[in-house]
Amino acid sequence: MDSSSASSETDELLHVFWHPGMLQHDTGKGVFDTLHDPGFLDVLEKHPENGDRVKNMVSILKRGPISPYISWHLGRPALISELYLFHTPDYIKELIEADENGGKQLCAGTVLNPGSWGASLLASGTTISAMEHILNRNGKIAYALVRPPGHHAQPSQADGYCFLNNAGLAIKLALNSGIKRVAVVDIDVHYGNGTAEGFYDTCDVLSISLHMNHGSWGPSHPQKGSIDEIGKGKGSGFNLNIPLPNGTGDKGYEYAMTKLVVPAIDKFGPKVVVLVIGQDASAFDPNGRQCLTMEGYREIGRIIRNLSDKHAKGRILIVQEGGYHRTYSAYCLHATLEGVLNLPLRLLSDPIAYYPEDEALPVKVVDFIRKYWGENLPWMVTDRSS
Ligand SMILES: [Zn+2]
Repeated sequence: MDSSSASSETDELLHVFWHPGMLQHDTGKGVFDTLHDPGFLDVLEKHPENGDRVKNMVSILKRGPISPYISWHLGRPALISELYLFHTPDYIKELIEADENGGKQLCAGTVLNPGSWGASLLASGTTISAMEHILNRNGKIAYALVRPPGHHAQPSQADGYCFLNNAGLAIKLALNSGIKRVAVVDIDVHYGNGTAEGFYDTCDVLSISLHMNHGSWGPSHPQKGSIDEIGKGKGSGFNLNIPLPNGTGDKGYEYAMTKLVVPAIDKFGPKVVVLVIGQDASAFDPNGRQCLTMEGYREIGRIIRNLSDKHAKGRILIVQEGGYHRTYSAYCLHATLEGVLNLPLRLLSDPIAYYPEDEALPVKVVDFIRKYWGENLPWMVTDRSS
C-alpha cells in the first residue's frame, strides 16, 4: 500500500526538530561560566553554553555527509499549560516574573536574560513536538536540537544552565499518551539530576545516567549522582547512576553500555527510548573530564538503536543537552547520529582524536556497579550477559 511505503520511507529518516529562535538566549561573557569579569583578562570567552555551539551542530547536519538521511522540522514554543507536566506552578511563575522583570540569575552560571524565556519555551515545545512526531507514527527517530539545555532543571529548581526540563516534559507526554514504560539514557558528562528528580518515585520510567563523578555542586544541585541514589517508593531501583572515573574513553563507555545499560534495558522492556546526549563527555570539552571520541559516540548510538529495535519498535527520541567545544561537539553529534541510524560505513572521520585510553579503572568501577546492582536491585538480573 502507498501509505505503508510512505511510512517506511520516513521511518528510515532522522527527523530533526530545530528553531532558530533558540539563538536568542544570550548568556554573555565572563570568566568561563561565572557571568562575571573581574577585569584581569584582555580576551574573554563567551559563556560555554552559547549559540555558536548549536549553530555548528545545525550546519554539520545540513552540510555534512549525514544530510541526505535527515528530514528537518521547525520547532514551536511550549504552551505554559504544557510546562506543568513536569514543573510546579510556583516555579513557572518565578520564571515568568523573572522574564517580565528583565532577567534574573537563578543559580551559579544560569541567568535568564531578555530573550532567554522565549528560547526556553522553544526548546521545550520543540522537544515535545519531536516526541509527538514519534507518538503520531510520523517517524521513528526524532532529534530535538535544542538550547538552553534541560536535564539539570528539576520540577521546582533551575540548575546548570537549565530552566525547563525538555526531555522530562516529552517523557511525561509519552506516559500521558498511554506509553507504559520509557527508558531514558543520559550520556551528558554531568548527572541528569533534574530528570532523575522528576521520575524518582515512579517505576514507569527507567532513568540511567552515565556521568563523571562530580558529586553535588551547591544548593541548586543537591543530588550526588552516586550509585546509591536508586529512587524511592515505587521508583526504588529505577534510577540507575553510573558515575565513571575521570578519563573514561571509548572502551570504558562501551563496557559500561554493554555490561550495565544493555542488561538493564533488556530487563525493563521500554516502549520508547529517550537518548539524552551531551558532547561534553568528549576528550576536548572544557566542561568535562572524560575522553570519548567520535568512534565512542558512534558506538553508543548503535547500541541504543539496537536496544530500541529490540524493545521499542525502533522508537528513539534524542534530546540535546551540553557539549561546549564548538568544533568537536558538532563532529561528535554527527557520529552519534550515524550510530543511531545504524549506517554500515563510517561517514565522517575524526579530525582530532589522538588520546590513548587506559580503561583499567573504568572497567573496575563498572564491575563494582554491576555487583552493587545485583545485590540491591532485585528486579534486575545483571549477570545474564556474562
Ligand atoms: Zn553536561
